[in-house]
Amino acid sequence: MSEQKLERAEAELAERFFRVCSAAACAQVAGASGREPLLVEPRTYCESCGGSNNRRAVTDFLEACQRKGVRRVVIVGGSPAVREELEDQLAGHVELRMVDGTERHTGEKARHNLEWADLVLVWGATELHHKVSAHYTGGPPATSRKVIHVTRRGVAALLAEAITHLKR
Ligand SMILES: [Zn+2]
Repeated sequence: MSEQKLERAEAELAERFFRVCSAAACAQVAGASGREPLLVEPRTYCESCGGSNNRRAVTDFLEACQRKGVRRVVIVGGSPAVREELEDQLAGHVELRMVDGTERHTGEKARHNLEWADLVLVWGATELHHKVSAHYTGGPPATSRKVIHVTRRGVAALLAEAITHLKR
C-alpha cells in the first residue's frame, strides 16, 4: 500500500473502532463513544486511559461524581505538581478548588469551601499541615458528611477512596 492509502486506512479504522483495554471504566467510555470497542494489548494503546492508573482513576471518579450529582470538589493538600495534574484532568468536568496544605488558611475560608463543596477530600500523608486540615475535620454532621480523610499517597489512591465513599 502507498503511504497515502495506508493513512486513509488508518483513519477509517480509527473512525470505526475504539481501542480499549480490559478495565471496566474504559469499556464504559468505549461503549459511550459510538464506535465499536476493540480490545487491545498492552493497555498503553487504550484510547481511554493510555495505560495509566491515574487516568483510569480519573475516569472512574468522574463517573461516580456524575452518578451522585457531585459537581463541586475541594481538595485539601497534595503537592503542587499533583494539584496541577488533578486540575488538568478534572477541570471542565467538575468545579475544583485546591487548597495548599502548607499555606495559611483561615477558618472562614474553610467554612466557605465546606458550604460550597459537594465533596471535600482532605489528603493527609501529603504536604498538609494539621492547622489547615483541622479546619475541615470535626465540623458539624451537615458538613462532615461531605469530608473524606484520605491517608494514602498517589492520585489513583486518592480518587479510589473518594469513589468508595461516593458508592456508599
Ligand atoms: Zn484503559
